[in-house]
Parts: sequence; C-alpha cells; structure tokens
Amino acid sequence: MRLNRAVHVYSIPMRARFRGITRRTGLLFEGPSGWGEFCPFEEYDDAEAAAWLACALEAANDGWPAPVRDRIPVNCTVPVVGPERAHEIVQRSGCSTAKVKVAESTLEDDCARLEAVRDALGPRGAIRVDANMLWDVDTAVAAIKAMDKAAGGLQYVEQPCHTLDELAAVRRRVGVPIAADESIRKADDPMKVAVSGAADIAVIKVAPLGGVRKALEVAEACGLPCVVSSALETSVGMAAGVALAAALPTLEYACGLATLQLLDGDVTSDPLLPVDGYLPVLTTAPKPDRIAEFEVESPAWVERFRRVKAY
Ligand SMILES: [Mg+2]
Repeated sequence: MRLNRAVHVYSIPMRARFRGITRRTGLLFEGPSGWGEFCPFEEYDDAEAAAWLACALEAANDGWPAPVRDRIPVNCTVPVVGPERAHEIVQRSGCSTAKVKVAESTLEDDCARLEAVRDALGPRGAIRVDANMLWDVDTAVAAIKAMDKAAGGLQYVEQPCHTLDELAAVRRRVGVPIAADESIRKADDPMKVAVSGAADIAVIKVAPLGGVRKALEVAEACGLPCVVSSALETSVGMAAGVALAAALPTLEYACGLATLQLLDGDVTSDPLLPVDGYLPVLTTAPKPDRIAEFEVESPAWVERFRRVKAY
C-alpha cells in the first residue's frame, strides 16, 4: 500500500477520557529525515501551535542529535482512581516509578491511593505526585506532608501551585523536592524562566518547547535535573520525546513517556511501549495500513497546518 498524500490527519480513540478528550487528533507528514507529528490540542491558538510544528518539522527535516543512552526509564501514571485500581495499574506496569495524580479528590482519598501505590511498588520504588497547580501555598504544605507520610516518602511534587513565587514558598516549608512543569511549558520565554529558586527538578516536553534541540537548550538554561514528558502523541511524536531523553547529558529520573497506552491504537507496528519500565531509543516509522486505519478527512486540520506553517 502506498501513501499518495502529503499529509495524513489521524483520529484515534482514547482508552479513557483524559484532559477532557475522548479522541486524539493530529497530522502526520514525511520529510527527508523521517516522519513528523503535528498535534497541538484543539484549543491552542496558532502562536502556541507554532512550537509544536517546529518540533514536527525538526523530526521530518533534520532528525535529532546523537543519543547518549539506548534506553529510557519511564514512570507509570496513576489517574484519580480508587486504591484497588491504583494497585493494579502499578503492578501491571512493570515500572519502578509511579506518578500519581492528586489534588482532584479529597486528601483522604489521595492518601489511600498513595498507600496502595507504595504497597504495589515495594519499599525501593519511587513515588511522585502531580497537583497540576490546584493548591494554594498552605494547602500544598499540609497536603505534601500528609502525602509524604502516606506514600512512605515522595520523590517529588510536581507543580503544587500556580506561580513560581508560590512554588518557592512551598519549597521553603517542605522537605520534599519540587518539580516545575506548567511554569516552564506555559512561560512566555522558557529560556528565561528563573526556576532555580522555586524548583529542584524541571519537567520538559519537547513539542511545546519547539523540538529536541530547543528543549536541550531550555534544559541547559534552567540548570536543573530534567524529567522528559510526552503530550499524548502516537509513537511518531513520542519518538521526539525519547530522542530528547536520550540526548540529555544526564538523566537522573524516570521520564513520563509511557503514555501510548492511553491511545486505543497507533500508526506503527513497533509502538513505543515500555518493557520492564524502560523504553527503547528508536525511531519508528508509521505503516501505511495503520495510518489508513485511523485516517480521517479533515480540511480544518490541513488548513491549520498550512496556517501555522505560514505563521
Ligand atoms: Mg504535570
């Protein structure tokens, strides 16, 4: 089967609702160096989407810097579920690091989920939590102390509050390390975010930062250990995140790149799924019949691609 179009819009159902969406939509295209995936979320304007396109164009036209490692440790993700389900997710994942979503249910429920995760991981596993900016400073301090106890030790807390000043205030009052995510990704200029006093760890995502080389510059500029995370891509876009994690000079923490399972399908027959808690460092080309399975007619996406390219 041959592909006779320049760009392919895909629509893949999600296994469960995530970020309020039930289908993931984006666009794939091939260039001299490989395939690129352009998949900014629907609500993003052209300015925000431009960084995502730069990332896709880098993959298609330039390829990536040489890797310095051949596999990437990854965390499993535990959404807001009950303790039994949390235990099952962690045990099935094969990962020794779990990232647990918190702050969307009661503190009691969050702590029960964390106890179950610790039970599934065993004493040597690492548990990190993500509050997605939902707390104020005092709530964060109290919650982090309680969760650190319930989890038998937290590796770090991701984005407990909204602003860098708030992160710094929380950081002064708790012993658990703080990771910045939205503070970097949503910054007007990610190169200039002064995260060093506000966080111990930087979460970096390759598409919102405009590609592997740009993200490496951001990582160097912020001067903190980095955790590379994905943005719900297929294996094509995910490969860019893997390339970034593979090219970072040091990698102290497991990355948030095990998200392919959230999609009910993929465009390649070599999906970037973790084995025993690690992803292989490889670039996987989409297969025409797999693309055809999820391809949709979408003049709106093709128009968006053209518009952002001209932006
Ligand atoms: Mg986060």
